Amino acid sequence: MPTYSHSRIECFRHCPRKYFYRYIAKVELPEPPEQIATFLGSRVHDVLEHLYERVSKGIVPAVGSLRERLDQEWATHWTPAVVIHDRDATPDDYRSLAWRCIDSYYRRFHPFDQATIIGLEQMITFPLDEAERFKMVGYIDRLAKAADGCWQIHDYKTNSSLPTQAEKDADPQLAYYEIGIRRMWKDVGRVELIWHFLRFDHSIVSSRTTDQLDQLRSDAIATITDIERRGDDAEQFRTSEGPLCSYCEYQQICPARKHLYQVRVMPESDLAKEPAVALVDRWAELDAKRKLLQNEQGDIEKQIEDIRQALVAIAKRDGLELIAGREKEVAITASERVLFPRKG
Ligand code: SF4
Repeated sequence: MPTYSHSRIECFRHCPRKYFYRYIAKVELPEPPEQIATFLGSRVHDVLEHLYERVSKGIVPAVGSLRERLDQEWATHWTPAVVIHDRDATPDDYRSLAWRCIDSYYRRFHPFDQATIIGLEQMITFPLDEAERFKMVGYIDRLAKAADGCWQIHDYKTNSSLPTQAEKDADPQLAYYEIGIRRMWKDVGRVELIWHFLRFDHSIVSSRTTDQLDQLRSDAIATITDIERRGDDAEQFRTSEGPLCSYCEYQQICPARKHLYQVRVMPESDLAKEPAVALVDRWAELDAKRKLLQNEQGDIEKQIEDIRQALVAIAKRDGLELIAGREKEVAITASERVLFPRKG
C-alpha cells in the first residue's frame, strides 16, 4: 500500500478521477506554468526557513539581511514564464508584497525566542493504525517546543484570504501532523496548531482533542480503504465536475472537461465544422425557445384562471348557468366534492 499524505487524501475527496490521473495512472503532462501566488509563497517560505536556520544556531539575522535574501532568492528563481493574471500588477509589486509578509512577521516575532526549534521543513512519517498498514507522510514548516512544554506545529500561508477560526479548527492538515508527532516522540503533551497568515500579519491557533484526532484517523483510514478497494480501473474513479475544474491540469484528458477544453482552443472556422458543437448550439437554441413558451403558457393559464373566477362570480351574482360571448359560450356548473382530512 502506498504512503498517503494530506494532499493525496484531499485530492481523492475532491475528485476521484483527478486522484486516478495523478496517483494511479501517473499521467505525465507538460509542467504547467507556475502561478505568481505559488512563486511568491515559495520565496517567502525560503526566507523564513533561512531565518529560523540562523536562529537555531543562536544568530538573529538583521531585517535588512532578510531583504537581501528575498531579493537573491527572487532573482535566482524568477523566470518570465511565471504567470501573473492581474494585468495591472508587475513582478515587483509581488516582490514588495512578499517583503511585506516577511517584514511584518519579523517585527511581530523578533527576537524569535518564543520556542525551541525542533525541525524546519520537518518530514514526518507515521502509521494511522496500530498494525501500521496505513502510512502517512507530511512536512512541517517549523516544529518547535515552547518553554511551557507545549509543542507547536507552525505553517506559513501567503493566501489572499483569511480563513475563520472555525475553518482552521476543522482543517485536517496540521492535525495529521499532530498524530504524527505523537507517534514519533513519546513525551508530547499539549500541542498547538499554528497558521501564520502573513499577508494579514495574523496567526490562527487551534488545538484538537483526543476524540477529534481519533475521528480524523478513522476518517482517513476509511477514505484510504475506499481508494484501495477501487483498484486501478479508471471507471471506479468518478469525475466530480465543478468550478475547480478550471484549475485542473487533467482537463484535456478528463471526460468531464476534454471537449470543452478542445472547443475553447478551436479556431472559429473549425467550430462550424464540428457536428457535436452544432448539435449543442441547436439544443441550446431550442431549449431557450421551450423555456419562453413554457413561460408564455404559464401566463396564459393564469389569465384563464382569473377569467374563470370572474365568470363564476358573475354567474353567482346573476343566477346564470351559461354565459355567452360573440361566438362561444361558457357553461357554468356547480359540483360538490367531499375531502377528508389526511393523517396528520
Ligand atoms: S477536470 Fe474536473 S472532473 Fe476532471 S479530473 Fe479534473 S477536477 Fe476532476
